[in-house]
Amino acid sequence: MTDPNCIFCKIVRGEIPSKKIYDDAEVMAFHDIRPQAPVHLLIIPKMHIATLYDAQPAHQSALGRMLAVAGRLAREAGATDGFRTIINNGRVAHQEVYHVHMHVLGGPDSLGSMLQRHR
Ligand code: AMP
Ligand code: ZN
Repeated sequence: MTDPNCIFCKIVRGEIPSKKIYDDAEVMAFHDIRPQAPVHLLIIPKMHIATLYDAQPAHQSALGRMLAVAGRLAREAGATDGFRTIINNGRVAHQEVYHVHMHVLGGPDSLGSMLQRHR
């Protein structure tokens, strides 16, 4: 359910601080500590799920809720003209924190193309 050494589980338990913006029974959202856009939020399930490879049917409600609150939280954070969601999974995607998290990135300016093209 929770991993004692996981940094985002520690944030859920209040053991390390975060700039929390949303909290309910299943998910939590806070500002990314190293923002890569004017709006950069992270939405996480409270339950420890390392990657989407590890997602199970029992996680469906929390994972759905992350999407269901994203638009409202993006808008409230100031991303009123579009935003992007990203979930990095594993080595190829450069996942750094092995507790599923959805990045919510927003302008006001355009974020640019989604990926750099392979040459
Ligand atoms: P990822 O590469 O998708 O695993 O991204 C991990 C994200 O977590 C990065 O954008 C980090 O800046 C962010 N991060 C790491 N530690 C914290 C923390 N204590 N509070 C908020 N964001 C964090
Ligand atoms: Zn965790």
